[in-house]
Amino acid sequence: MSKKEELEKLKEKMLADKTVPLREGATNLVFGEGNPETKILMIGEGPGFHEDRLGRPFVGNAGSVLNKLLESINLKREDVFITNMVFYRPPNNRDPEPHELAAFAKYMDQIIDIISPKVIVTLGRFSMGKFLPDVKISSVHGKTFKLKWKNKEIVVVPMYHPAAALRRTDVMQQLKEDFLKLPKVLEEATKPELKQTELF
Ligand code: URA
Repeated sequence: MSKKEELEKLKEKMLADKTVPLREGATNLVFGEGNPETKILMIGEGPGFHEDRLGRPFVGNAGSVLNKLLESINLKREDVFITNMVFYRPPNNRDPEPHELAAFAKYMDQIIDIISPKVIVTLGRFSMGKFLPDVKISSVHGKTFKLKWKNKEIVVVPMYHPAAALRRTDVMQQLKEDFLKLPKVLEEATKPELKQTELF
């Protein structure tokens, strides 16, 4: 099965899952979208008003910021895969609660397994917390963290959430600078590892 087909199958499974929280008050499941073959996975927090209405991630104001940030490094949203920590909109855009994040974690994990990205960009503190618990975003944003994800090496780059950047110009500046580092991070992350014999 192709990655696209695997993702479609997973989406069907999620649509059929009546046990997950937040489903009742939501209009649409926001599964995520983009290139299933991408090396870059971007994970936000959860759908807002516009995302809920359209069933697509990052299509409101924060989405416009994200589109521009991607453009700044010559990428389009179709080149990466964009998703969120929770797949239904929390009421009034409140923060997702720990039990909600936990309930959707198995689906997030499967998305990561299927896409098998080289680089994961976390947008905001909730997705950052999945990979880097107990850190402060103000100290770690734009840095690269090499982690093992089920025996595969991935690089996690925590970044500020685009919505936070809309509220504060200094955060916007940081986010822009952090994005500009991504092409180099990707190049490093996709370099074939040197074989032992080539070291001598
Ligand atoms: N904020 C998010 O975290 N995700 C979206 O999809 C939209 C806004």
